[in-house]
Amino acid sequence: MKHLIDPMDLTKQETDEIITLAQDIIAHRERYQGSMAHKKLATLFYEPSTRTRLSFTSAMMELGGQVLGFSNPQNASVSKGETVQDTVRVVGCFADIIAMRHPIEGAPLVATEVSRVPIINAGDGSHSHPTQTLTDLLTIKRELGHIDNITIGFCGDLRFGRTVHSLIKALSRYEGIKVILIAPQELKLPDYIKQDVCERTGIPYREVETMEEVMPELDVLYMTRVQKERFLDEDEFDRVKDSFVLDCARLAHAKEKMAILHPLPRVNEILTEVDSDPRAAYFRQVENGKFVREALIVKLMEWKNDPEHGMPDEEPPVVDPELHCPNRKCICNNEHAPHKFRKTENGVLRCWYCDSKIK
Ligand code: ASP
Repeated sequence: MKHLIDPMDLTKQETDEIITLAQDIIAHRERYQGSMAHKKLATLFYEPSTRTRLSFTSAMMELGGQVLGFSNPQNASVSKGETVQDTVRVVGCFADIIAMRHPIEGAPLVATEVSRVPIINAGDGSHSHPTQTLTDLLTIKRELGHIDNITIGFCGDLRFGRTVHSLIKALSRYEGIKVILIAPQELKLPDYIKQDVCERTGIPYREVETMEEVMPELDVLYMTRVQKERFLDEDEFDRVKDSFVLDCARLAHAKEKMAILHPLPRVNEILTEVDSDPRAAYFRQVENGKFVREALIVKLMEWKNDPEHGMPDEEPPVVDPELHCPNRKCICNNEHAPHKFRKTENGVLRCWYCDSKIK
């Protein structure tokens, strides 16, 4: 069965099919209005969310379906100590499809091991956020007319910003992509994305410390907030929290057709004076998120029993009880999940659930 846990769970063709369907939904909304009648989506949100949860809810409602679930784990049986897998087994008896957000990395992946309905990862810790990626791809397509042959600058918290990690992975399958990473030392992109994605697929990337030096080259500027909730050390957060701020003066040197994206919420990294600039695409991006989630729900329900659309083939995991994942926020260190690892092409061993490097 097809789940969406990581952007690479979709083939490039499936990704493009979802984006094309989202564009058709935008053009002919009435055609899809009853397509999920009598179907139920469960939203299991173990971490605060406004946009993503409401976006899923609104998407399912537009398709004529129903939504159930929780947005505060204190009100759910997890507060009684239930595991993610048990919760998903139970909810799978009530819902046809599940969207899950979890602060623990790898939680939605563990859920797929027992689920009888498709699971959508709506964000797991600082690891992945594949539905934001679909949103971002649709936005780039609609703003620029193409996804291939773009130079994209990622700015801000590239270390904990899960939307950045997922989008770089997805872009690695398009032609002529150039990536520029704009971040202070403390917030640099994790090495598993640099090595296993950029270097392996040959995407040119470079790291810079100011947005001014690269602004004229960019087709897309992807801004992010500093992820306060992911820092273990408050002093470190205070040092970097105001790292990069986009204002109209800085935009003066940008291309006329550049698109400014932000997964939101914004804190202070884009001044409100930028909102009225035609290049500011972040509120249009929110609306695209609803349409792309509609398309995703339709496609996952269509592919549910289609053996042509399973999960990608993977090498069997390395299982070794002597090895441990160093990430305290990984599911294997929080619930009873077997310690499994994956050997990457360059011989590095990574956690099966969260991609942390095993020493
Ligand atoms: N909404 C995005 C996320 O869930 C970005 C953010 O929270 O900063 O990852």
